[in-house]
Amino acid sequence: MEKKVRVRFAPSPTGPLHIGGIRTALYNYLFAKKHGGDFLLRVEDTDQTRYVKGAEAYIIEALKWCGITPDEGVNIGGDFGPYRQSERKEQGTYKKYVDQLLESGNAYYAFDTPEELDEMRERLKAGGGHSQSYDMHSRGGMINSLALSAEEVQKRIDAGEKYVVRIKIPRNEEIKFKDIIRGYVVVDSSNLDDKVLYKSDGMPTYHMANVVDDYLMKITHVIRGEEWLPSGPLHILLYRFLGWEKEMPEFAHLPLILKPNGNGKLSKRDGDAGGFPVFPIEWNSEEGEKFTGYRESDYFPEAHINMLAFLGWNPGTEQELFTLEELIQEFSLERVGKSGAKFDPDKTKWFNEQYLRNKSNEELAQLIKPLAGGVDDAFLAGVCGLMKERVSFTNEILEKGKYLFEAPTAYDAKMVKKKWKADSPEIVAELVSVFSDTEFKNEVLEAAFKTYIEEKELGFGKPMIAIRLAITGEGGGPSLFEIMELIGKEESIKRLNAGIANIKKEIVA
Ligand code: GLU
Repeated sequence: MEKKVRVRFAPSPTGPLHIGGIRTALYNYLFAKKHGGDFLLRVEDTDQTRYVKGAEAYIIEALKWCGITPDEGVNIGGDFGPYRQSERKEQGTYKKYVDQLLESGNAYYAFDTPEELDEMRERLKAGGGHSQSYDMHSRGGMINSLALSAEEVQKRIDAGEKYVVRIKIPRNEEIKFKDIIRGYVVVDSSNLDDKVLYKSDGMPTYHMANVVDDYLMKITHVIRGEEWLPSGPLHILLYRFLGWEKEMPEFAHLPLILKPNGNGKLSKRDGDAGGFPVFPIEWNSEEGEKFTGYRESDYFPEAHINMLAFLGWNPGTEQELFTLEELIQEFSLERVGKSGAKFDPDKTKWFNEQYLRNKSNEELAQLIKPLAGGVDDAFLAGVCGLMKERVSFTNEILEKGKYLFEAPTAYDAKMVKKKWKADSPEIVAELVSVFSDTEFKNEVLEAAFKTYIEEKELGFGKPMIAIRLAITGEGGGPSLFEIMELIGKEESIKRLNAGIANIKKEIVA
């Protein structure tokens, strides 16, 4: 029987999660759901020095806003918990496997002090060696259980001396593993260093905890960012040393997300510099660090997710708009590219515009109702219908469509100068009397207007701009007759008359 797909998103709570992290979570989620599997949220908080308060709550909230729902995880529970590594450490989860590695000779104790490690680096640097690492070349000269007697090691441990446990990387071995996105990755073990797996305070490092948890949580596919690719060989060795090769997950390392200009990795500072968010939701730390988010910038979560899906993946067709359900259907790791995906703020906006336009007027009206201050639902839906093609965000509907709620208090000066001619007041006055006898329906108004300009042998432009200026104060916008239908006869006539009086004043002056 095929194994049930189980994948995890395993962030470290070191700060807010930037959109790269959300994309990793999304791809994991899509892959799990596509294969009828489970998606887990595991918090990797073994590095207490980098722990940031509020980061875990942020991650949970951000995933929730995006609609990426874990099946198991820190805030949900599940059969493989706890899902927070600090709690797993408390339960002694990792110690047992570290002991196993020590016993099998694949790991060793090292007692070197920070000063001794510095000295080692200086020495290696002075010797001109290409590496200053603690590895198969340098370990012989250091203070570790490979050099000390068993009694001496025990004596130091019993005396409470600080130590770390390091992996013993074998010499000249080819480590080969398959990455679903990149194909085979081959590394010579001689290029790896003896990474620390465990510290005397009982805390495992990322590598140890990550591999042990993936094994214990029955993870079948490790889908993570490219920055973890160099850790792959070390993880493969750990699976081997722990006797878990048969249970080893498959790997897929996702491409980087690049700055809009393609020069390097998108960083959390790029957003502020470029005026676009790089975080899903806003972040305000106790220390005063502040970042704006997509949620606060009025993006639809569906548009955000759709955009993120395309940062590294493509469906192989022209289709660009996908619901989460459709993404689940279409997603495959084979269609994820190797090379970095350039982040495009304009395209991001474009996605939001498409989602906005595809919403019904009534739905949009409900979204802006709390901000609109007691306006009738049908009127608000009319406003949304007129404005939705002209805005990128819902909150712009009220702002850009202000004249639909109240008469203009000023008129676009440039337009007035260009288009408001000496006979404009007379034309508008005549149109006032035409419209006074007209039913206020878009097509009826348009027909009445056309009849008038034909009779007067006028072109379309001048009278049109004149009444538009009077009604909206602006030189462009949605269909004017639809605007007039929406605001009604009384209001329209009032504005036309006010325009005759006020716009005239401006040109005389
Ligand atoms: N804790 C790691 C991170 O913060 C997880 C990497 C992995 O998925 O293995 O990204």
